[in-house]
Amino acid sequence: MSGDIEARLARELPGYARRVVDALEAAGHEAWVVGGWVRDALLGRPGHDVDVTTSAPWQETARVLRAAGIEVHETGTAHGTVTAVVDGRSVETTTYRVEGAYSDRRHPDEVRFVTDVREDLARRDFTVNAMAFHPERGLLDPFGGEKDLAARVIRAVGEPRRRFGEDALRVLRAVRFACRLDAAIEPATQEALVACAPELDQIARERIGQEMDGILATGRAAWALRHEFAVMAAAVPELAPMAGFDQRSPYHAHDVLEHTARVCAGVEEFTGGGASQALRWAALLHDVAKPECWSEDVSGRGHFFGHPEAGARTARRVMARLAIPGDVARAAAALVLLHDFEIQATAPSMRRMLAELERSCPGQARRLAFDLLDLKRSDAVAKAPQCMGYAVELDRMTRALRAELAAGAVWRVGDLAVGGADVIRERGIEPGPGVGMVLAQLLATVMEGELPNDRDAQLAWLRW
Ligand code: ATP
Ligand code: MG
Repeated sequence: MSGDIEARLARELPGYARRVVDALEAAGHEAWVVGGWVRDALLGRPGHDVDVTTSAPWQETARVLRAAGIEVHETGTAHGTVTAVVDGRSVETTTYRVEGAYSDRRHPDEVRFVTDVREDLARRDFTVNAMAFHPERGLLDPFGGEKDLAARVIRAVGEPRRRFGEDALRVLRAVRFACRLDAAIEPATQEALVACAPELDQIARERIGQEMDGILATGRAAWALRHEFAVMAAAVPELAPMAGFDQRSPYHAHDVLEHTARVCAGVEEFTGGGASQALRWAALLHDVAKPECWSEDVSGRGHFFGHPEAGARTARRVMARLAIPGDVARAAAALVLLHDFEIQATAPSMRRMLAELERSCPGQARRLAFDLLDLKRSDAVAKAPQCMGYAVELDRMTRALRAELAAGAVWRVGDLAVGGADVIRERGIEPGPGVGMVLAQLLATVMEGELPNDRDAQLAWLRW
């Protein structure tokens, strides 16, 4: 590697991380920056957290850093990790280690501390993640990670089958890094990936959830579905029936899998790569229940009655199993449920959509309404060519939604110009469920545009 690049990395290494490395080395130990920071800095993206690996045993690391005035938390001492906090920034600092046997294919049975940093690099998953950097000694890259990074290749360190056999989660990590770096997977690594994908069923579900969430967060789930479907379906078995499922419908030119890949790509396109995590999960799962809801009419045409409701149930189940955060999961399930909800570019239709979103996901309707329109737009362009017109229609709906929100859209009882006390007084009724019913009726009237959201008009309506 060129000295220029090493000089750039040395300049870009944050001062707080440098302090940790320097303190350890001043005490006679060896310390390197490893993993994600090195990889991303080589790519010109130096914002990654800094992890440090050191020859010092963790007790010694803690002692040396504290003596240098650095705050230390004993966060993972069983694996040799302590967290140093400098200027409010955390640096995970781990003793050189290798992993023992993985008899449950999940957790190493033991970690063994070693003295050579090269052994520590050799236990890491991919060549691009197995580089170490020191501001004076430069880059340590025993497996050709820098070359693979430049060529955008994900390659297992060592023998791929053995490495995926030790920890099947690496199968999903390979896909995540390929998506993130826009990389290809080296052929022997790819072959092992497919062979070992079924072993994902022995991996803790929340670890799978984290990696799946990570794959979606790259905005390249479409690539993963098209190129690594065996892995995706091993991680989320509910996806499996989508492949090759012929929709036998004039509205669909593609099978459910290719359609879903197009919708995943579409939501990124329409949001400039900034889709919310909820929208990304919804794109992945919006048609997940189509195969189970399929029926054929007398003309041989396929229908999917009830697939949004069934899909929302499946989406909730999948995301709960994978421990996806509740707010993301609720929002994604609401989008799946409503992805076929009929809307027009009119104010009452926009209010009905907001009210439906409010019902599924209280307090989120405003934000989710835009996500729902982006999902519908992507869904339309991913169908057959004759559905493109609807995508144009959706632009008018987005404008209608903006106009409606700017005009102070009414979709909750709380948005009305009158409240329960007004109902009790004007109607002369007792407090109780009747008050709510009157307000619900008033809300429906205002939402349909039959009454303005104006206090005098609504008081008059109550008196009438
Ligand atoms: P990210 O930005 O996604 O966090 P990262 O490189 O920091 O990227 P982590 O999952 O935080 O990835 O792991 C840190 C480093 O630890 C990786 O770069 C890799 O060297 C190593 N590593 C993590 N998980 C595994 C694993 N399951 N098997 C082998 N090595 C791993
Ligand atoms: Mg990390």
